[in-house]
Amino acid sequence: MPKTIALIVAAGRGERAGGGQPKQFRPLLGEPMLRRSVAAFACRGDIHSVQVVASADQLDAVAAMLAGIGTRQLVAGGSTRQQSVLRGLERVLEEKPDFVLVHDAARPLVAQPLIGRVIRALADGAEAAIPLLSVVDTLKHKAGDGWITVPRDGLYRAQTPQGFRYQSILSAHRTHAATDVTDDMALAELAGMAITPVEGDDANMKVTVAEDFRFAERLLMGEMAEFRTGMGFDAHRFCPGDHVWLCGLRIAHDQGLEGHSDADAGLHALTDSILGAISAGDIGQHFPPTDEKWRGAASALFLEHAAGLVTALGGAVVHCDITLICERPKIGPHREAMRARMADILKLEISRVAVKATTTEGMGFTGRREGLAAQAVATVRLPRR
Ligand code: MG
Repeated sequence: MPKTIALIVAAGRGERAGGGQPKQFRPLLGEPMLRRSVAAFACRGDIHSVQVVASADQLDAVAAMLAGIGTRQLVAGGSTRQQSVLRGLERVLEEKPDFVLVHDAARPLVAQPLIGRVIRALADGAEAAIPLLSVVDTLKHKAGDGWITVPRDGLYRAQTPQGFRYQSILSAHRTHAATDVTDDMALAELAGMAITPVEGDDANMKVTVAEDFRFAERLLMGEMAEFRTGMGFDAHRFCPGDHVWLCGLRIAHDQGLEGHSDADAGLHALTDSILGAISAGDIGQHFPPTDEKWRGAASALFLEHAAGLVTALGGAVVHCDITLICERPKIGPHREAMRARMADILKLEISRVAVKATTTEGMGFTGRREGLAAQAVATVRLPRR
């Protein structure tokens, strides 16, 4: 198999995007753009290693950002994109790569099929394989006070990753180091390399200005995330006592609630709804009532555990809605504190936690005040597999 190296260019300052840091370090749905870009190449079996070119003063931050991603090395970049790419190319000289893919960190939505097309074109003999897209909008050129419509026939947009025979692009960079260009294909043109176009991908957008972040996140949500819903129900019986636990709050009451743990039906229903959304069984399987360890346990532990399972899947709880069913205690005075407590346990904004209360008009076990019940619905975002 030919030896292919990926060079991710991340040395830019990216001021146009705002946000007070280089745009490639800013998160998209919680994950830095750079990490997404690097991971797209590091996960491939046909790529030998990934070289990440970043500003010398940001190498430590970049290393932390890329923790856990294997087969990648960091290279200190230069003051221009072109210098940075040349440094990356020189750095791997001794590894004798056959091919190199140069990719801008600001294209974090690069899809595997596109990377595959570029590598395949090189393997099929291309000297330079460039993802191109035709121009569909009508182009206008501002000329003085007027406008001129530019014929779009024969016009293309170039994307990255751009793939090259290593020796050819290294030589082009060395020869034309003093010529200012905005991509590597431009140097390939100057060096007279044969260019093989491959089909680009509209979703492989270059995140440049602030609005691009929102657009890129919308694309990510639609293509890479899915939402699942789970429901939970629980009931506990009143017993002699002077307080109940409900939705994580200790509420003074003229009765208590029977249960192995703290008998917090609100948190039990919510925990079950989260477990349901990820098809991970129920609270009894995770915390058996036969286990002495959980006697009198604070149910916040159960909720934290369920939320932790979602995090471990790369997902997040995005909303939960709890209905408490009882004649007493009155829920209204505690509603906001309950929301705040559950938002705190789940590390959610309070606007993503709803608490509602109802009675059953004197009917049934809650109506007879034998106990209380809770229902919950949780919405979870998970990465699409
Ligand atoms: Mg329970």
